[in-house]
Parts: sequence; structure tokens; C-alpha cells
Amino acid sequence: MAERDLFKEIISHCKEYGFIFPSSEIYDGLSAVYDYGQNGVELKNNIREYWWRSMTQLHENIVGIDAAIFMHPTTWKASGHVDAFNDPLIDNKDSKKRYRADTLIEDYVAKLESKIDKEVEKAKKKFGESFDESLYRTTNPRCVETQRKVDEVNARMKRALEQNDMAEMKQIIVDCEIVDPVSGTRNWTDVRQFNLMFATQLGAVSEEAGTIFLRPETAQGIFVNFLNVQKTGRMKIPFGIAQTGKAFRNEIVARQFIFRMREFEQMEMQFFIKPGTEEGWYQQWKETRMQWHKRLGFPETMYRFHDHLKLAHYAKAACDIEFQFPFGFKELEGIHSRGDFDLGNHEQYSGKKLQYFDPESGESYVPYVIETSIGLDRMFLAMISASYTVEKVPTSVEGEEATRVVLKIPALLAPVKVAVLPLVAKDGLPEKAKEIFNRMKFVCRCFYEEKDTIGRRYRRQDAIGTPYALTIDHQTLQDNTVTIRYRDTMKQERISVERVEAIVKEKLDWKNLLA
Ligand code: ATP
Repeated sequence: MAERDLFKEIISHCKEYGFIFPSSEIYDGLSAVYDYGQNGVELKNNIREYWWRSMTQLHENIVGIDAAIFMHPTTWKASGHVDAFNDPLIDNKDSKKRYRADTLIEDYVAKLESKIDKEVEKAKKKFGESFDESLYRTTNPRCVETQRKVDEVNARMKRALEQNDMAEMKQIIVDCEIVDPVSGTRNWTDVRQFNLMFATQLGAVSEEAGTIFLRPETAQGIFVNFLNVQKTGRMKIPFGIAQTGKAFRNEIVARQFIFRMREFEQMEMQFFIKPGTEEGWYQQWKETRMQWHKRLGFPETMYRFHDHLKLAHYAKAACDIEFQFPFGFKELEGIHSRGDFDLGNHEQYSGKKLQYFDPESGESYVPYVIETSIGLDRMFLAMISASYTVEKVPTSVEGEEATRVVLKIPALLAPVKVAVLPLVAKDGLPEKAKEIFNRMKFVCRCFYEEKDTIGRRYRRQDAIGTPYALTIDHQTLQDNTVTIRYRDTMKQERISVERVEAIVKEKLDWKNLLA
């Protein structure tokens, strides 16, 4: 299936099955803002819980907090967001479309890189077994020339962004002859910096009111509470503080569904360490976070690391875990070695000491920080994209096939775990089914339905990713057995109601994901 179509299909599936709706849709929606529906909220909560448990339950030295969205305005001076949380934007005068200048350049570079890849693929086919890819990449004149261009453009952009040189950003776009994908023209405005923070007023009386910001990240709530948590929790370095919550960014280009939203949720963990130990911890957290993703059981080739070309204003080292979304590999999570940038700046701006007293060495110091930061909504999109499957399945008519859409979400994270379905809505089957429902609802989230043919009901449960369906039929009334149908294999087994409970409990044990 073409990539574009798959993404469109996923978006409409999310809407049709109550996962995600455009915000305030009856007023035609609000750009890049979305609401989670009845199934979406369950999946979102479950992903959050997986993250929260793996941070705070598996690590005895990580605790959570829940800080306010509003913070003292000086926070954002200290964090660098007032001065440096900008994106370079550029408009095309013909299409009137607005773009991030760095994204336009990155897309151009990606095109050059795919040109090299195509060249290599062609040669691979031609030379067969004996083909030496790395030799070809470094000696074939076309590859070498294109790679030189890639390196040159990357180096220019890195320099321009570091030196905040917007004229040079424009010049790169001009020199590379980048055209607007909509109008096809090169009629560009100058590149301007645009701050991504949303501002609002605190206080009712305008003279008293001060400008405050909606937090653009949750991390700062952790930094300003560093000593509160360390002291009251008697935490010893190394230790971490985890937080999940809303963040707000006035994104310039907010397309791609919930990949880039203006209001979104982050799951961040700041790990405080002794200066000098950052390299080891950075590597360890890269590893730990990648494991967290891979444990979900999707193909491992869907994940990769990407080291940052340009380091953010706070970073000593940084990489992304990228995921293969329907529109290509993109950032899912960031892992950053932030040094003492944050605590050091908050010390300076607040005039309060934010140091750790090491009881063993007797010295005080400002700890270094390793951050892991993932967007919950992006993780949601990754989960839906990886689990969305369209399959051919046999029908009851010999030799005929039908198509089913199934979300192969890990059982523990599925919005509904067990569907309880009486075969027909008569003969005492609904009563028996409700009895089973009322028993199973204490084990996990269940769903009861008696309308429609059983086949249609199975399909609807497949479409929302329900891993187990229990069918109650006439035999159930006699021997207290039901059939359990497994979502992925569609296999059915006849078992006693007691065993259902044990099986489901075993499959839904958090140990399966966390261990
Ligand atoms: P990008 O380069 O995509 O703008 P970023 O590098 O600015 O992302 P961070 O500031 O590192 O992102 O934020 C950490 C995580 O928060 C990201 O990895 C992403 O999963 C999520 N995130 C950031 N911005 C958004 C957004 N606008 N919508 C949804 N999730 C976001």
C-alpha cells in the first residue's frame, strides 16, 4: 500500500473507532489540536502506565512528581526558552504557505541521500554477490559528489543555526534551489526566528497581570523541585525524577496528525548524576530506553538511533530514538546529556543553591543531568501505526476470503481486554453473559455486546485491538464453558469460565512487559 494511503487510513481508522477526534470538530476543528475518544483515552492511559511503571516501579531510585503547568516566568529565562526556543520560519509568497527553514533543508538533504541509496541499490543488483557497498559509496563518482553536497549543506546549516544566522539559512535555501512543494516556486521571504511559547496573563487586574507561559516542556518542573524531592525523599545521587503531563508549543508547521501538535503530552525523566559520570549514564539510558520500545514486540527494524547534528542550547550530547512512521523515520524520543546547564542556570537566576551534598566525599556540587523525553501522543501514533494490520481471512463460505482490519496492540495496553459476547440475544444467553461480564470486570476492562452477528462483533473488536473475545452459547448454560477467541490468530478454544479468568490474568500480568 502506498505510504500516503496507509497514513490516511490510520487517521480515519482512529476517528471511526473512537480513538482520536479533531478538537472542537463541530466548529471545523482547531489546527493541530486533537481530542482522544473512548478507546483512545484507554490506550493513552495504558501507554502512560507502561512508561510510569517502568520508570518508578522498576527503579528504586526514580520517583515521580506532578508539577503545575504554569511556572514563574523567570523559569523560562533560566531555561533558555525565552531567548532560544525558536524555530526559523520562512514563507513562500506564491503559495502563502509557511515552513520551517531547517525542515526544508533537511528534506532536501534527505532527497540527496535517497539518490545515493538508489544508486547503490542499482549497483547491488548489477554486481550481485561480489558487491562491496562501502567501497562503492566511497569511490563511485556520483555517490562521492552527492555525499560531498550532503556534508556541505549539513555543515552550513549547523553553523548557521549555532550562530543564529538567518540570512545564511535563507542563502542555503537559495543556493540549493529549494522549491515550495505546493507552488513549485522559489519566491521566498527572509527567514525569521519565531518563539514557540504560548503566553497568557496571570491575575485579573490588567496592571497587576504578568505575562506567563504555558510550559513548552515538563522538564523545568522537575529541575525547580530538584532539592524538594532530594531532601524530602532522602534521595542519593544517582537518582531520577519522572513526570508526565501537558506541554504547549506554537508549532509553525503542525501537520501530520498527532505527530506534531500544539498541545501535547510528554513523559520525561531527569536523572541526576555526579559530574564526570555522564558518558556512562548517557549510554546506559540510551540502551534502557531502546529496550523499553523493543519489549513491545514490534519489528526491531522500526527503531533506530539518530545522533544530533546540531545540539540544543542545553545539550552536551543528544540523540533521538527514531521510529518508522508511515511517513518515514522520525523522532519518537530524545535522550540528552544536559550537564549542569539547567540546575546551574536556576541557581543563578533564583539566587538559591541547588546543590547536592555528597555524604561520602563530604563535597557539594551541582549534579549533571541525563534526560529521557518522549511524547505520549507520538508514542500513541507509533503504537497504532505498528499495530494496524489489514489481513485476508477465510469466510464461512468455502474458498472465499474477506478482509479484516486488526490492531495488534500488546494485550496489556489494549483499550479493551475482554469482549463478552452472547452468541444470540435470547434463550438466557445474555443473562449468563452478563454474569460472566460482572465477574471479569474485576480482572480487567471488559466490553459487553449482544447486537449483530457474532462475526461482525468479532471484527469490531479486532478493529480496536481487543485481544480476547468470550462467546457464550447454549453449551455454556449446560457446562459453564465458553469459547475464547484470540485476536491475532483468530483461534478459538473451549474452556471453563474459571480457566478464562486464570488465562487472562496471566496474560495481563505487568511482568510480561516489564521483566
Ligand atoms: P521535533 O524535532 O520533532 O520538533 P523536539 O526535538 O523539539 O521535536 P523535544 O523538545 O526533544 O522535541 O521533546 C521531546 C519529545 O516530545 C519528542 O521526542 C516528541 O516525542 C515530543 N514532542 C515534541 N514536540 C511535539 C509536538 N509538537 N507534538 C507532539 N509531540 C511532541
